Amino acid sequence: MMCSVGDAFDLDLDGKLPVKDYVCKDCENKFKGIGKNVACPSCQSKNVAES
Ligand SMILES: [Zn+2]
Repeated sequence: MMCSVGDAFDLDLDGKLPVKDYVCKDCENKFKGIGKNVACPSCQSKNVAES
């Protein structure tokens, strides 16, 4: 098995939804996002980018 770097939260919640790493461009919060319309959980901004 390959082990990718940075999988701090390797939670196998569902196994279907692609969880990606995002970073908020407004507050620089880093978080896991699921789906297409991802908003920052810290400041609710949608100005986020995949990291
Ligand atoms: Zn934010």
